[in-house]
Amino acid sequence: MSSPLSKHLLRLTTPAVCRPGTAALRRYATIAGDQSKETVVVIGGGWAGYNFVRKLDKSQYNLICISGSTNFVTTPLLPSATSGALGFRDIVEPLRSTSELSFHHSWAEDVDFNSQTITCVPASSPAFRAKDPLVKEQQRDARAETPQRLKATYKIKYDKLVIAAGSYNQTFGTPGVEKNAFFLKDIEGASAIRYQMYELLDIATWPMLSDADREALLTWVIVGGGPTGSELAAELHDLVKCKQFREAYPTLAPHMRIKLIDAAPTILSTFDKRLAEYASDKFQRAGIEVLTSRRIKKVDTWSIETEQDGTIRTGLVVWSTGIKVPPIVERIRGIAKDKRGFLQTNEELQLLKEPVSDGPVPAAVENVYAMGDCAQIKDHFLPATAQVISPFASCIRSWVYTASLTGRKSTGSLLG
Ligand SMILES: Cc1cc2nc3c(=O)[nH]c(=O)nc-3n(C[C@H](O)[C@H](O)[C@H](O)COP(=O)(O)OP(=O)(O)OC[C@H]3O[C@@H](n4cnc5c(N)ncnc54)[C@H](O)[C@@H]3O)c2cc1C
Repeated sequence: MSSPLSKHLLRLTTPAVCRPGTAALRRYATIAGDQSKETVVVIGGGWAGYNFVRKLDKSQYNLICISGSTNFVTTPLLPSATSGALGFRDIVEPLRSTSELSFHHSWAEDVDFNSQTITCVPASSPAFRAKDPLVKEQQRDARAETPQRLKATYKIKYDKLVIAAGSYNQTFGTPGVEKNAFFLKDIEGASAIRYQMYELLDIATWPMLSDADREALLTWVIVGGGPTGSELAAELHDLVKCKQFREAYPTLAPHMRIKLIDAAPTILSTFDKRLAEYASDKFQRAGIEVLTSRRIKKVDTWSIETEQDGTIRTGLVVWSTGIKVPPIVERIRGIAKDKRGFLQTNEELQLLKEPVSDGPVPAAVENVYAMGDCAQIKDHFLPATAQVISPFASCIRSWVYTASLTGRKSTGSLLG
């Protein structure tokens, strides 16, 4: 049975020349590409954006990807890359890799759905420097380092737009987190954590340090006992236990402390209770200190304070307590968002307009789709994971093939 989702995605992936009314759309031809083709613009080069870009039939469209990062990152491998078990180059794919894709290393600042334009600002400043722990606080905002001429905005027109801008880290406004904690969301974050870890290890070998100071430097705290925080704790534990580490830092192992802190009564609270208990037990026995039911009061440069434990001296705090909407999603108005501010789509992944009142599904915004962490299908809550995104990409791929090779309509359906 042909679902509304397949029908609408077919429209997105069917050659423009086959459809009526495209001449008008062509007025919006963009700075790149063949004027006879429609322009499909994707905001974001993560799991959702990159999968879509890979699957779309590029011979039929001008394809533009705007992303603040130059690479697609295999996020499940980020904890291993942070510890050094994997190299950063092993877990990324460059987005600027084919002439069939016009890649813009820029931030999409705003979208005007009436004129079908996106306002962009170059993301030219290397983010790693911004998060490099040696860079002074006032320089930590990447924009502060960007030369004035590169702050200038420019516009890109689209015929079809896919918003796949992902998510940012949720901090719940906890004092000091943004300034003093590290985040494991992308390669830049992972690089900054690794940099800090090895810097601390180096400093901890200084003979003039007291054991108390050494232990403070080597107390590494992870806030958030979800999958990411737990995996990172396990990776750091494995690093400290491995033979090479002990050979490189023969005196440090007894001073190492890894603490995993969570506000909930258990870590991995979204998983089956037995799994959560098993993981917690395994961690405790391995020497990872699991501190649950904790309320974090603040994070300072060299300490973290909880209501229950007081001040804990630490050299590294990694914050991983869930997600919030990215700034671009906060900024765009006149569209439907859920209670947490994430974009709402219909089952065809079309962005919905702001509802006028409670009632039936609001109308869709013309030619705009959204998927991945930044969006939810209305009334079908799906967790923000890469696994959820894969079926989207697979459906799109099969529909592209169906449309391009046979001209037949697909019978695929995302929601079953
Ligand atoms: C450490 C870690 C481990 C994980 N492990 C797993 C796992 O094992 N299994 C699993 O299923 N999921 C896992 N996830 C979750 C998974 O990575 C996300 O659900 C997935 O990345 C979401 O894909 P996305 O494309 O929506 O967003 P992202 O992959 O975050 O990509 C968003 C992209 O949009 C870009 N962007 C954002 N704003 C703008 C803008 N204004 N202009 C231009 N570009 C912009 C960003 O630079 C980025 O490239 C993990 C996540 C992390 C952080």
